[in-house]
Amino acid sequence: QPIHAPDNLKPLLEDILQQAMSVNDGNVADYIPALAEVKADYCALTVATLDGNVTSVGDTNKPFSIQSISKIYGLMLAMERLGDPLWERVQMEPSGQPFNSIVQLEWEKGIPRNPMINAGAILVSDVLVSHYSASKSALLSMVRGLCGSEAVCVDSRVHESEREHGARNAALAYLMKSFNNIESDVEEVLDHYFWQCALTMNTEQLASSLAFLANRGQCPRSGKQITSHRDAQRINALMSTSGMYDQSGQFAFTVGLPAKSGVGGGIIAIVPDYGVISAWSPPLNSFGNSARGMFMIRELANRLGLSVY
Ligand code: GLU
Repeated sequence: QPIHAPDNLKPLLEDILQQAMSVNDGNVADYIPALAEVKADYCALTVATLDGNVTSVGDTNKPFSIQSISKIYGLMLAMERLGDPLWERVQMEPSGQPFNSIVQLEWEKGIPRNPMINAGAILVSDVLVSHYSASKSALLSMVRGLCGSEAVCVDSRVHESEREHGARNAALAYLMKSFNNIESDVEEVLDHYFWQCALTMNTEQLASSLAFLANRGQCPRSGKQITSHRDAQRINALMSTSGMYDQSGQFAFTVGLPAKSGVGGGIIAIVPDYGVISAWSPPLNSFGNSARGMFMIRELANRLGLSVY
């Protein structure tokens, strides 16, 4: 159905951001000190449409830790490098379990449920480490190219802290190794995973980097085909079923857009054939999704009738 968005989105975004500031439930992630120190009242909302317009309100120039949103970038590279054999090593089913859960991985013989949970993203990191001589720089230059900015970097303090507090992720990786589903050295794979979680970006960079997912795989800025149309559809499908942690069903029900969140408080949502919405505010609800980010994306989707269903 056609999207009835106003030509000037700014007043609408301002109104939604203002309302979001009165959403005060949620707590800033505290599993590592570098995230616990981020101010709770940061709030940003960006809409990048396929005609090249970027409309932003709030703290949109402030880079933040993208955390699990990086799972999309890793997946893109692994899909391109490995093709369909990737799906013999990771499934495409929602987990119905917390993002860092380990029980299912034991039952399912080291094959993660999907690439949007930690086990799946660690498996994807193994593919990258095994197939690229320098997996980190391959990923970083892809992300910089996608958002047309060399400013994207990695917060080394977050990277270090992830490693120090990464026992559960290490357990996931070693369990997969015991089932022969990790090819490379486990510590190298974990290092790549922690590093990509520590990428820092702002909402504008995030939205413009993922515009190709709303545009059948083609970057609307450069005209470059980033992924095939089929792979863009597949990434969107995985986000729709598994991108919002254990709240993915509720998000599909109330918002109806492929989306991915991270514990840094960022959320990106894809509106096929229209553009990308990105939101950021650090306090998280009990599922690990940004409370204000959820509010803002839901408001915007409902007011503009954006649900893909
Ligand atoms: N670094 C976090 C972890 O692996 C990422 C979690 C997330 O954003 O979902 O636990």
